[in-house]
Amino acid sequence: MLLRIGSRILIFGIGHYKEPDAKSSLPNPPFITNTVGSIAGINSTPHPYQLLPIDERVKRVLASTTLFDTHNDLPQQPRACFHGHIHNNPKFDLRKGFQRGMTDIRRLREGAVGAQFWSICVPCLRSAENFSTPEMVESYPDVFELIEESGDVNRVYQEGRIACSIGIEGLHMAGNSIGIIRAFYSLGVRYCTLTHVCNNAFADSSTSKIGPVHECLSRLGCSAIKEMNRIGMIVDASHVSEDCARQVLELSRAPIMFSHSNVKGVFDCPRNVPDDILDSIPKNGGVICVTFVPEHVASRRKDAKMEMIVDHLFYIAGRIGWDHVSLGSDFDGIASVIPGLEDVRCYPSLMQAILDRGATEEQFAKVAGENMLRVWRGVEKVRNEMKTEGVLPVEDVWEGRQWWRYDGYYQMSDPDPEDKLGLDWYGVPPPEELYHDK
Ligand SMILES: [Zn+2]
Repeated sequence: MLLRIGSRILIFGIGHYKEPDAKSSLPNPPFITNTVGSIAGINSTPHPYQLLPIDERVKRVLASTTLFDTHNDLPQQPRACFHGHIHNNPKFDLRKGFQRGMTDIRRLREGAVGAQFWSICVPCLRSAENFSTPEMVESYPDVFELIEESGDVNRVYQEGRIACSIGIEGLHMAGNSIGIIRAFYSLGVRYCTLTHVCNNAFADSSTSKIGPVHECLSRLGCSAIKEMNRIGMIVDASHVSEDCARQVLELSRAPIMFSHSNVKGVFDCPRNVPDDILDSIPKNGGVICVTFVPEHVASRRKDAKMEMIVDHLFYIAGRIGWDHVSLGSDFDGIASVIPGLEDVRCYPSLMQAILDRGATEEQFAKVAGENMLRVWRGVEKVRNEMKTEGVLPVEDVWEGRQWWRYDGYYQMSDPDPEDKLGLDWYGVPPPEELYHDK
């Protein structure tokens, strides 16, 4: 157990924000009606996280900063365990608790989480075959809100709730189509990890079993970066090959993120980011979010320790500055955990460890959430600029794509795309010879 949990904490941990226990001294919502800066002010009601039994320095940071985790794979739990059934499912009730996983509402509250990117991670070669994350978020309106813009993060936090957005872990889910990236945006997705553990039509992965196929980004991948910049989708370079990450940093007009990545300068593994890529992040304005994956900090899982996560964070801060490092846990996306970082309750003790190591409260506030917000705002700024410039949607397509037309009986490639043969394609069956290969 990471934290001592008093009964008072449990009361707001189970999500009774709208109807607190009559005996509870917890205030009714909205907890904070003023600006973020006044959360800890004398005249405002304290944010519930100020009542947690945690380090006073951490409380001061949380008074004006939303703790923002950039990568949590909770959405794969109901998909894998319950075939997507999230409603009226007693085994997946985030309010009651979901002990099988690393995340539920009570533990998010104990962890003081204020904003969360939920990552949708579907195995390679599969599409986003179950997309229920918006519904999951909307099932708990007193706790979560699916937000659209960076400016919503602090508002939701001020209201005592958790701001939620969505990432897609791997563009294999986009069906090799930039148009689907636009569709994901309209469904609430705000970042796309370019690859997962496999190569796809857009980019090479750092862990593909067959090695790189594009050398970095494909032509389609380059077009996708431009389109993501245009629509305001954050580009996530975690998981991509090193050459791909270098190219993304050169190409992207908007700041990028590494939603859950550690660094080779501390521990060498294929998923970790080398120094020269780190050094390119400040010019781009992006952020790298340290992740809690045991295999990314130690050769043997059992050797992984929380202090090693702090090592990665301080290495990044020391090399490229405190403006470019944040936290992306990968909870519910990992098979094993680091002692002290078992689930989403861990943040207060991790935050304390970072401050104990020597980060100032101002530096730590950047890590906790301000850097991610700056990146997101930067992406929105570029989107707005490109709109003003009249940049049109990207219409590039994957070279391997085939074009189909439905003929009323079955699908076949279009023999007459310009209608020059007068086949009267719709209405009457096409000539017999078109039905059968010779
Ligand atoms: Zn991942």
